[in-house]
Amino acid sequence: MIAENLKRILSELAPVVKLVVVSKTRSEAEISEAYETGHRIFGENRVPELTAKQENLPDDIKWHFIGHLQTNKVKYIAPFVSCIHSIDSFKLLKEINKRARSADRVIDCLLQFHIADESAKFGFEEVPPEFLKTSAFEELKNVRVCGVMGMATFTDNESQVREEFKALKSIFDQLKNGFFAARPEFREISMGMSGDYRIAMEEGSTMVRIGSDIFGPREAL
Ligand SMILES: *Cc1c(COP(=O)(O)O)cnc(C)c1O
Repeated sequence: MIAENLKRILSELAPVVKLVVVSKTRSEAEISEAYETGHRIFGENRVPELTAKQENLPDDIKWHFIGHLQTNKVKYIAPFVSCIHSIDSFKLLKEINKRARSADRVIDCLLQFHIADESAKFGFEEVPPEFLKTSAFEELKNVRVCGVMGMATFTDNESQVREEFKALKSIFDQLKNGFFAARPEFREISMGMSGDYRIAMEEGSTMVRIGSDIFGPREAL
């Protein structure tokens, strides 16, 4: 089932859209089933779960971190994580830079913006975030800011979700044409999950993060 779901979703995605298979709460056997189809990009949202899976699963998996990240946990994932979608403070970005430097790596990062009308979701509100204009940001050589990420409100109201994705696309465009104009690596818009990835793609997503549509419903935690 997992392999078929994955194939069906991949066939729906526009060629420019990358799929992050969200494997949080899923067993290593389930992840292996997706891996066997040739898929390599997986997303997790908890540090202990990610480090345990990383140790046991193949080394060529590109692990994306998609959940809220505390600075004191960065050190556990910096040696191997491929992309962190959830940058919501300068403090966090600086810590990732420091730990990436110790590991002699450069880590891809996405700036998370708060686009939902739920206060529980994380992310920057101001565009551009203040810290971008500081020399302290220019000094970070071990992080590569390559785009934005956002989560729409959890609602059946499609037009609201669409408006929120439009807002994230507009934030991306402002940054792309402004602060990041000379940085071609700034090109990703991570938006869209199982319930809303079709809308997200219509609104310009370049990366969708999908779990339930591939593995089935998650058990409530
Ligand atoms: C869980 C999660 C997803 C995937 O959710 P599904 O509805 O299972 O596709 C995507 N993004 C983030 C940040 C998540 O935490």
